[in-house]
Amino acid sequence: MNNGDSLRIAVQKSGRLSEETIELLENIGLRFDGFRNRLMVTSKNFNVELLLIRDDDIPEYVQDGVCELGFVGANVTEEKRTDVNVLRDLDYGTCRLSIAVPKNSGFKQVEDLAGKRIATSYPHLTREYFDKKGINVDIVEISGAVEITPTLEVADAICDLVSSGGTLKANGLTELEPIMYSECQLIQTRKPVDPKKQELIDKFLLRMEGRQKAERSRYIMMNAPEDSLDQITSIIPSLNSPTVLPLADKNMIAIHSVIPLDEFWEVMEQLKEAGATGIVVMPIENMIA
Ligand code: ATP
Ligand code: ZN
Repeated sequence: MNNGDSLRIAVQKSGRLSEETIELLENIGLRFDGFRNRLMVTSKNFNVELLLIRDDDIPEYVQDGVCELGFVGANVTEEKRTDVNVLRDLDYGTCRLSIAVPKNSGFKQVEDLAGKRIATSYPHLTREYFDKKGINVDIVEISGAVEITPTLEVADAICDLVSSGGTLKANGLTELEPIMYSECQLIQTRKPVDPKKQELIDKFLLRMEGRQKAERSRYIMMNAPEDSLDQITSIIPSLNSPTVLPLADKNMIAIHSVIPLDEFWEVMEQLKEAGATGIVVMPIENMIA
């Protein structure tokens, strides 16, 4: 248990999630002195300390309450079968856990792997997948460099994390089927947290929410004929009503609004059709409700 006053957050020490997690923490205003060769780093301006450890240990540390919060891939939390609260999916560390086979193996579908050996660092998730399909396979647990095992004839196929697929290709493997999609998540312990620390967590989450909302939105400005205002307002999926400003040309107005990033292109096309011109799109630093 963490009996200190500071909120303790587990972060991967060095790996694919480290840089973006630290960047996220800095983007919500937390300042740190230096990370070099340190296991524990204290923030200079927020009552929080970071525990820098291997990603494999993060779910358990959070489960046991050694850290109140942790940043870790869903793949690890689920493989470890830990009981934690998933607070938020983050938009980085995205990858999939996939079955892959040697290019010339002749395996065309997962059913072809019945009775074969599958190398993986994710024995639980892999086992669960094949069990659900009723396919009997031998799981060979390997802690790293899984992609080399078919060449070494240690396994017939693998189940490993893939993002671009470059590593698979470089090792003469092709992807057969994804079994899980994963991204970095913020997790919280289910152990009781004292009220003062919970206050810190709430404050921390509020900042994260503002930042995440901002990252998923764009600020747009455009000019439009005055008589198209109703049509344009109906296109913009804004929570608030848009800002409308007069222009020197009496028949024209300027409209400012915030739109969700995932509707960006669709909205843009409709705005143009409705007569909007000079559309300017800008990123947003933060959004506080
Ligand atoms: P550690 O030394 O902390 O145990 P690691 O070698 O297990 O590091 P990394 O390769 O740094 O882990 O990956 C950390 C996490 O990044 C993965 O668990 C996964 O959630 C995510 N990730 C995203 N893309 C990939 C990818 N292509 N391969 C592996 N992990 C990926
Ligand atoms: Zn790891």
